[in-house]
Amino acid sequence: MQPTIGFIGLGIMGKPMARNLVKAGYSLVVHDRVLGPVEELLGLGATRAASAREVAQKSDLVITMLPDSPDVDLVVAGKDGVLEGIRAGTTLIDMSTISPVVARALAAKAAAQGIEMLDAPVSGGDKGAISGTLSIMVGGKREIFDQCLPIFQVMGKNIVYMGEAGAGQVTKACNQIVVGVTLQGVAEALTLGAKAGVDPAKIIQALSGGLARCGVLELRGPNYLSHTFQPGFRVRLHHKDLSIAMQTGAAYGVPLPATSLVREFMNALITMDRGDLDHSALITLIEDMAGIQVRAHETGE
Ligand code: NAD
Repeated sequence: MQPTIGFIGLGIMGKPMARNLVKAGYSLVVHDRVLGPVEELLGLGATRAASAREVAQKSDLVITMLPDSPDVDLVVAGKDGVLEGIRAGTTLIDMSTISPVVARALAAKAAAQGIEMLDAPVSGGDKGAISGTLSIMVGGKREIFDQCLPIFQVMGKNIVYMGEAGAGQVTKACNQIVVGVTLQGVAEALTLGAKAGVDPAKIIQALSGGLARCGVLELRGPNYLSHTFQPGFRVRLHHKDLSIAMQTGAAYGVPLPATSLVREFMNALITMDRGDLDHSALITLIEDMAGIQVRAHETGE
């Protein structure tokens, strides 16, 4: 029999992931502190729970998709949290991006109650969440990963077992370094190209055929060309992820100079009230400094 899945956190990512699970035939019990997305899921046949504890009481497996480490800590280990309602033998999967240190501490706390926990952060953005093609990087026990694979396959495509608890979050920190530093490179390149008089649409087309081709150009290209930065992935969440990367670098003695620069630029965007824009809005800082706005030329020629 298919497990009943509890899903907590129905934001940009969680809502489409939960929707895909319902569409795949799973019974879902959902919870979020905001009502709108909960009601949308109820309309598709999910059941509502008033707290994380109630989600755990009604589910065979619980998934969390929350913003940051303190949110996951609160929802899992806090008052009225998952660990208050969960039965021994239930699996807990955190798919948020959080600190590997917090992920390991929560996995240990859960294990003390007979609960297996996986850290399974994702990449692929809202588009990947909607289309069920996320990359999922998973830490925890191998046999628990194997049991949960059919559920991961509903939400993602490139699903990789990374190792023991926390290994998924370490991998996600690596991912966010690459995306952040690439966003900065693309921002500088497009601003330079545009100010030097070349159509940015043509620059993206040309770069996409060679070594410079990347997910940022492919998936965020339309943002740059239309100069609209609806999230997507919010600047403040990417800033949080680069802070996690910096903390992890400090813990393991690895200097991350480019990461720290991009994190400070994201910090500046948050200060300038641009923290809720998509992270591709990093380009707006370079544009401000260069005194130009990047846009596709009218004809595209
Ligand atoms: P979001 O802010 O859109 O959604 C988070 C949801 O959690 C919200 O609906 C919020 O109401 C809910 N929530 C927060 N605290 C809660 C609590 N205590 N109880 C119940 N509900 C609570 O964020 P998102 O963009 O969906 O991102 C979720 C996670 O996925 C983050 O860790 C983020 O870094 C990661 N992520 C996001 C993307 C992306 O493109 N958006 C891509 C990969 C990974």
